Amino acid sequence: MHEMTHGVTLPKTPREFGFFINGAWRRGRELFERNSPSHDLPVTRTSRCTPEDVDDAVAAARLAFEDRRWAGLPGGARAGVLLRAAEGIRRRRDEIATWEVLENGKPIAQARGEIDHCIACFETAAGAARLLHGESFNNLGDNLFGMVLREPVGVVGLITPWNFPFLILCERVPFILASGCTLVVKPAEVTSATTLILADILTDAGLPAGVYNVVTGTGRSIGQALAEHRDVDMLSFTGSTAVGRSCVHASGDSNLKKLGLELGGKNPIIVFADANLEDAADGAAFGISFNTGQCCVSSSRLIVERTVADRFERILAEKMKKIRVGDPFDPQTQVGAITTAAQNETILGYIAKGKAEGARVLTGGDALECGKGRYIAPTLFSGVTPSMSIAREEIFGPVLSSFHFDTLDEAIALANDTVYGLAASVWSKNIDQALCVTRRVRAGRFWVNTIMAGGPETPTGGFKQSGWGRETGLLGVEEYTQAKSVHIETGDRSHWIAS
Ligand code: NAD
Repeated sequence: MHEMTHGVTLPKTPREFGFFINGAWRRGRELFERNSPSHDLPVTRTSRCTPEDVDDAVAAARLAFEDRRWAGLPGGARAGVLLRAAEGIRRRRDEIATWEVLENGKPIAQARGEIDHCIACFETAAGAARLLHGESFNNLGDNLFGMVLREPVGVVGLITPWNFPFLILCERVPFILASGCTLVVKPAEVTSATTLILADILTDAGLPAGVYNVVTGTGRSIGQALAEHRDVDMLSFTGSTAVGRSCVHASGDSNLKKLGLELGGKNPIIVFADANLEDAADGAAFGISFNTGQCCVSSSRLIVERTVADRFERILAEKMKKIRVGDPFDPQTQVGAITTAAQNETILGYIAKGKAEGARVLTGGDALECGKGRYIAPTLFSGVTPSMSIAREEIFGPVLSSFHFDTLDEAIALANDTVYGLAASVWSKNIDQALCVTRRVRAGRFWVNTIMAGGPETPTGGFKQSGWGRETGLLGVEEYTQAKSVHIETGDRSHWIAS
C-alpha cells in the first residue's frame, strides 16, 4: 500500500502526460517532473516541448481556423460542445480536483468549489456563443445599409499561471471557443496536468481536432515562442506584470498581435468605522488567506479608519490565528501549501523585510511546520508606512499590511497609491460613502461589504498596470472578436464619373 493521507492514496509513480496537437497526443523527448508541494513526492511528468512543437501547434490551430471547421458552425452548435464539456468536467470533478491539489497544494474542498465555477464558465459561454451578434444601421438613408459583424480574432495563444491552473483556464477557454477562435495553450510548467485533462474532455464533447492545442514547457522557451509567434493573432496572458511587459515587447517585435493581459495586483480593502467589524474582519482574513494569498485579487492592503483601527486589528488577528492551515487533502483545511519553493522564499523574504523596515507583526510572521510541505502562517503587519516594500510590492502570499486613515479622501488616496488596479473591497453601512469609494478607486473589480464574490456573468480585468482587456461575461467573448463594418448600397448608384 502506498502512502495515504486523509483517505487519499498518493500516486505510487508520477502520472505521465503527453502534449496535445491537432487532436492527438505526442510525447516530448525530455520530461519535467513535478513534486507535490504538500507531500514532497513526485506526482506528474510533463513534456518539455520544443519551439518546433509550438510551430506545429500554431499550424494546427491556423488550419482549424482557416477551414472554418469551428468558426463556420452555428453558435448553437458551438454552444452544444461547450455544454457537453461542462458535463464532462462535472463527471471528472474529483479527478481534476485531485490533480489540482497534487500539483498546486490548494485544499481539496476549495479545488472542488473552483471546479464548480469552471462548469459555470462553460455554461455561461455556451449562452454567449448562441447570442453573439453584431449591430445594424438602418438609418443611413434609403440607399445604404450598414452592419457591424463580430468576427473571431483567429488563432489565440493562451498563457496561464500556476495559482489557479484550472480556474483561470476555464475563465478563458470557453469564451475563446464561443467566439469561434482556435487556440494554443501554454500552462505554467509546475501545474500543467488539468490543462491537459481538459483536452480529453473537449474531444469527448465533440470539439473538432486542431481547435484546442496544448504545449507544455518553461515560460522562457515555450511561452516566449508563443508570444513571439508571427502566426498567432492574439495572445491572452495571465501572470506577473514583468512577464506581461515582455509579452508587449514580443508582440511589438513580431506581428503586433492583439494582447489581453491580466497581471498583478496590490488590492486594497477599506474598512470604515461604521462597518460591521466582525463581518469585515472575516472578509479581510478570507481576502488575504484564500489560496494562501496566491491570488491576483488577494486583498493585501488593509486601509482601516483610525478610530476603530486597534480594535479591528485585534479582532482580525484573532480570526487569522484560527485559520486551519495544513495538508490540503484534509477536508477541514482552509489554507494549503505554498505552490513553489521560489514563491516560498519570496514570501518569507518579504516577511523578513517587513520586520526589518519596522512594521509590527500582530499574528503569523513565520513558516509553519506541518508535514512535509511548505506552509506559511497567515500574517498581519501593523504600523506599515506607504514607502515600505510590503506596502508597495505584490507579495503573492498570506501577508496583509495595515494602514490607518482619518478621512474619506485619505482612504481613497491610500487605496489609489499603487501602480496596480485589479480589485478592491469597501466595508461600510453608509451607502453614500461606499458608493463614493467604489466610484473613485481605480480597480477593475469591486466588492462592497463582501469580497471575491461573483460568477462568470460579469467581466474581470485590471486598470493601470494590472492589465488590458476583460475576461468572462459577454465582454469576455467580445474580447476575442473584432468588429468589421459592412456597407451595402441598396439603391441606384449616383455616379462619380459623368456619363
Ligand atoms: P509568471 O508571469 O511567472 O508566469 C505566468 C505564465 O507565463 C507561466 O505559464 C509562465 O511559464 C509563463 N512565462 C514566464 N516567462 C515567460 C516569457 N518570457 N514569455 C512568455 N511566457 C512566460 O507568473 P506566475 O508566477 O506563474 O503567477 C503569479 C503572477 O500572476 C502574479 O503576479 C499574479 O498577480 C499574476 N496573476 C494575475 C491574474 C489576473 O487575473 N490578473 C491571475 C493569476 C495570477
